[in-house]
Amino acid sequence: MIRFSELPIERLLDPKGYACDCGLHHVCDLRHFKCGAGVIAQVPRVVRDMGYTYPFVVCDPNTYEAAGAQVVKLLEAAGIQYKLFIVPQKGEKVEPDEWSVGAVTMALDVNCDMFLCVGSGVLNDVCKVSSFAAGKPQMVVVTAPSMDGYASSSSSMHVNDVKTTLYNHCPVAIIADTDIVANAPMRMLWSGFGDMIAKYVATCEWRIAHLIVGEYYCEEVASLMRRALKAIVDNADKLSGRDPQVIQAITEGLVLAGIAMSYAQVSRPASGLEHYFSHMWEMIGPERGVTPDFHGIQVGVGTLQSLKLYDWIRTLKPTRERGLAHMAAFDRGAWEDMVRDIFGQSAPQILAVEEKAKKNDPVQHRKRLDRIVDNWDKILAIIEEELPETSVIEGIMKELGMPMVAADLGWDEKGAKDAYTGSREIRDKYLTSSMLWDIGYAQEARDLVQAK
Ligand SMILES: [Zn+2]
Ligand SMILES: [Zn+2]
Repeated sequence: MIRFSELPIERLLDPKGYACDCGLHHVCDLRHFKCGAGVIAQVPRVVRDMGYTYPFVVCDPNTYEAAGAQVVKLLEAAGIQYKLFIVPQKGEKVEPDEWSVGAVTMALDVNCDMFLCVGSGVLNDVCKVSSFAAGKPQMVVVTAPSMDGYASSSSSMHVNDVKTTLYNHCPVAIIADTDIVANAPMRMLWSGFGDMIAKYVATCEWRIAHLIVGEYYCEEVASLMRRALKAIVDNADKLSGRDPQVIQAITEGLVLAGIAMSYAQVSRPASGLEHYFSHMWEMIGPERGVTPDFHGIQVGVGTLQSLKLYDWIRTLKPTRERGLAHMAAFDRGAWEDMVRDIFGQSAPQILAVEEKAKKNDPVQHRKRLDRIVDNWDKILAIIEEELPETSVIEGIMKELGMPMVAADLGWDEKGAKDAYTGSREIRDKYLTSSMLWDIGYAQEARDLVQAK
């Protein structure tokens, strides 16, 4: 078996993929990834190498300024015909909704043989939906390293005003010129950093879920994420000065996270409890009048909160008695009331999740509890191996001036605690909050989570 976690990113894009001891044959659809100073100059060559002749260049007014104008000039100089469309902004920014997808789709010349999206997360998501529907491949010129969705095969969209994940396709090429992404707004750089430090908690939780509920796990894919994290955290203090080395490490790390998810065929390598804080805030935000922040900024706050929870988990000594007593005292009616209180209008869909997941079933609970109690030493060892010192991450975030607690994002105590409690309920995924529920520490954990 080839230890692919040590290979350069270019080799991970090998279309033959890698057979792995985990049982999967790891492969991703991304074919070209260029990251570094001045790599934007390679856009025409990558277009030609892939055999395309007539790109549909999509920007928004800001990304046209940042990189779109340069892309168009390069295509002209190379004698490549193109069609340019600048998505008009209706509000402060382009929204990932039907209007944007419609605008892009209506502007498409059907003779174009590829989409060339110049932008960050939202525009990339919009173009993925449109290009997938049109049956044309997509290339991306990155303008901000703000989240890890560049290399994913899905889009985070608002469909009928409801946040929804649409599955489509992964871009065939990603070009990230560090001279350009280094000039992205600082909040977007923070967001990229936040989405990366999340991988500590995600990897740790992935291993724990593997141990407790037997979920699929691949050590090589996890190692890919560890490698990316090291490159970022070692130089994180230089992010404020927009140091090219750390910007490059973050950009590469975010693309690597996308590759890792494609390789594993699940989001586990990149997303755990810390992401569920963010998912919860997006779900309950509209009804509680709190406007969401950038994905990675919310995830960064979720990461710090999760690390604090883990500091406490290290001090616990779970017992069968306590776990069983918790299950015996479980009151279905009270649980439903709690779900309705936290989720409001979304409560019916959350209650429906449990019909399938059966997380509250005593027989299933007993199996998980036995696994946890019997393997507690192993769980503690995983935590020790995977997680950084909370104070180190806290120190970096503080130094950078990032939002660090839920209150920094506009949340009150109930909003912070509800995000924690609700995390166990939104999907059938075994999280840290699921484990704490199983051992009878759900209330204590909720008490520990704080907005400030
Ligand atoms: Zn594997
Ligand atoms: Zn993320």
